[in-house]
Amino acid sequence: MLRALLLELAKSSRLRRWITSNGTTRRLAQRFVPGEDLAPAIEAARQCNRSGMSVSLDHLGENVLSREDAERARQAYTGALDRIAANNLDANVSLKLTHLGLDLSDDFCAEQLRIVTQRAAALRNFVRVDMEGSAYTDRTLRIVKQARAETDAVGTVIQAYLYRSEKDIQDLLSIGCRIRLVKGAYKEPSEIAFPRKKDVDANYIKLMRLLLPSGIYHALATHDPNMIETAIRFAAEHGITKDKFEFQMLYGIRTDLQSRLVREGYRVRVYIPFGQDWFPYFMRRLAERPANLLFFAKNLLRGTTVRE
Ligand SMILES: Cc1cc2nc3c(=O)[nH]c(=O)nc-3n(C[C@H](O)[C@H](O)[C@H](O)COP(=O)(O)OP(=O)(O)OC[C@H]3O[C@@H](n4cnc5c(N)ncnc54)[C@H](O)[C@@H]3O)c2cc1C
Repeated sequence: MLRALLLELAKSSRLRRWITSNGTTRRLAQRFVPGEDLAPAIEAARQCNRSGMSVSLDHLGENVLSREDAERARQAYTGALDRIAANNLDANVSLKLTHLGLDLSDDFCAEQLRIVTQRAAALRNFVRVDMEGSAYTDRTLRIVKQARAETDAVGTVIQAYLYRSEKDIQDLLSIGCRIRLVKGAYKEPSEIAFPRKKDVDANYIKLMRLLLPSGIYHALATHDPNMIETAIRFAAEHGITKDKFEFQMLYGIRTDLQSRLVREGYRVRVYIPFGQDWFPYFMRRLAERPANLLFFAKNLLRGTTVRE
């Protein structure tokens, strides 16, 4: 219920104004978002690379309402790809199609994505298209498949909480598309998504078993030690070597687990968000773990920035 409430509050523009203008909450959000500009994100990426992890940079933003905003987002992404190359970083980019204008027009959005994926292809880099709420699943998959027909520098995300995901995976595997598997971060009705966490976890494992032996380089994005241990065991039992897939985790979450996996020789990619539009991303992180909300509330009351 708390998760549902927080995901609902993520849509509130009043709460957004209050949280994003309050100095204490801005500092607390830095636990998940290293900065509002590209420069601190590049610095965070450099540090991750030094620790043996690769990175995906996400310029925060979603549901833009004008073509100008979508074009600005597209330029931020091509700019980020250029900066990654100039700094010789081991990093790619992740983006949301509603940030590139999906609410305005599919064709316009597909064109913005095409420009970003072409730049990534020219730089021998990669673009991951995040998966948003279920209202966008079909259109996201259609646009990704269209982009993938031109370049393999693009992949997408599948959410284990959706009943449809096994079929979507079969479809994407048939065109050789790279997939990031996640549990799913949005509020979805039980008609289309598993309501119980244990069923989402079981489906995550089932889908992971489809992805790993496929011969395509996929990503398992989770902080859940059970999912990770199950994947490690499955890979070992099926002779899938450590360089054939990667784990992905969010910046600032389970950094202990990130380092442990690197020490054990696994590939780890850290998802680093940056930008001014961090409110919905921040609310989804609070919704994922009640302890984060408690930590946030305690520090807000104290007006401090004590780290957990
Ligand atoms: C790299 C990456 C990309 C993602 N991209 C998408 C996407 O495109 N679309 C989408 O719908 N979702 C995306 N997600 C979010 C995902 O769907 C889940 O909401 C999120 O990863 C939490 O699920 P979990 O697998 O970590 O497991 P959970 O069962 O939620 O958590 C397992 C354990 O992980 C730790 N943990 C999890 N979340 C947090 C947190 N916020 N703070 C502190 N500890 C935490 C806790 O120890 C918890 O017990 C992404 C996640 C990652 C890591």
